[in-house]
Amino acid sequence: MNEKPTITFLGGVGSATGANFLLKFPESPRPLSILVDCGMFQGDRYATEENQKPFAFDPAAIDFLFITHAHADHIGRVPKLIKDGFRGPIYSTPETKIISEIMFDDMATILEREAADRGVTPLYSRSETAQALRQWDVIPYHNSFSLPNGVTVTPKDAGHILGSAYFEFARNGQKLVFSGDLGNTPSPLVKDTEPLVGAKYLLVESVYGDRNHEDREHRVEKLRNVVLDSIKRNGVLIIPAFSLERSQVILYELNNLVEEGKIPSIPVFLDSPLAIKLTAVYKRLKHDFKPSVQQEIASGDDIFKFPRLQFTQTSQQSHHIDFVQNPKIIIAGGGMSTGGRVIGHEKNYLPDARNTILLVGYQAVGTLGRALFEGSKTVSINGEEVPVRAHIDMINGYSSHKDSDHLVEFIAGSRETLKQVFTVMGEPKSSLFLAQRIRDELEIEAIYPEQGSTYTLDF
Ligand SMILES: [Zn+2]
Repeated sequence: MNEKPTITFLGGVGSATGANFLLKFPESPRPLSILVDCGMFQGDRYATEENQKPFAFDPAAIDFLFITHAHADHIGRVPKLIKDGFRGPIYSTPETKIISEIMFDDMATILEREAADRGVTPLYSRSETAQALRQWDVIPYHNSFSLPNGVTVTPKDAGHILGSAYFEFARNGQKLVFSGDLGNTPSPLVKDTEPLVGAKYLLVESVYGDRNHEDREHRVEKLRNVVLDSIKRNGVLIIPAFSLERSQVILYELNNLVEEGKIPSIPVFLDSPLAIKLTAVYKRLKHDFKPSVQQEIASGDDIFKFPRLQFTQTSQQSHHIDFVQNPKIIIAGGGMSTGGRVIGHEKNYLPDARNTILLVGYQAVGTLGRALFEGSKTVSINGEEVPVRAHIDMINGYSSHKDSDHLVEFIAGSRETLKQVFTVMGEPKSSLFLAQRIRDELEIEAIYPEQGSTYTLDF
């Protein structure tokens, strides 16, 4: 019998969503099964049909679930795991648990709506999200936690969003690391990604495995120019933004540009109830920000507040935005235009050449955001053909993911000890490109695993 541990790639391979990895220690006295992340597959809809499929393992046989961070593509199927029989403990950083509670509430609402529209039963209900939170415990960064079979686990700061961790599983002085998503360090708000030290095996995200971003200075300058151009055309600037992290980053950058007098003060709307809730959490968890931002806050600056910024909570307030004179800026979810209030704004404002859509994040295949990014001249919104005359701009630099060069730099931190790297959480060309770079530039074995494949680890 093979007594060596194995890793199985169940989701988050060949696609940037659906993170789900199974680590098994089969040896006696008893086998140990650990799941890392249990995310939603996302595409043209918030939750694609793939999420309905049964898990490829028995959820009741899983001992522990570790969650790297609170994005839907990492936590979105946790309640389904509960529904299908998982009764073990869930672990994440304390921040991730706080944010997940808010994300679950939003997910349950969207899933109920999508299911009603399609005449199917929702993927899960609020009783399962509540149960997930009851099974959920926390481990702060750098606290080591002992598991059976001589395994310890330690969360380190991934620098991706507030609370994001990469997990180091250690045994016999060797380390296996799950990267989760890795931040685009230096991020405007959150702390830098901690260096990878002494890893033998690494699962590394590769959303931007084949591309590089603008640096910090250039992205701020580009944002400023997009705002100024939009004002010049007396247009509406729509920024579809993920409610978690991206909306707060954009607010923070606009806050700085307004306060430094680099853009004139015009009406800015944060038009997303979820982003408004999460912004309040970000304010509360300010001690997790990078030191320079903590200093700004300590010196009296409310970093998410500037003149003419309005948080539009109710749908009535949201509709009222239409009557506000141009120029104006609307930050609204969802970030890939698969739902949320941004859809209504896009329907209204896409046909007018004075207006601008500024994409500030990854746009998955099949989404409205991807169609805009690829230059579609008409798009279908809620069954209606909408001509695209608005300017479409993109700033990759606001991505909260490391780009190709920085992924290689992160991996190089363990160049002397790494035996194998698995490139996951990216579209195939991106994951394959990164794997090739790791082989060529770092001379480390790099594998792009297939969905459902299992590898034996010498660990
Ligand atoms: Zn993420």
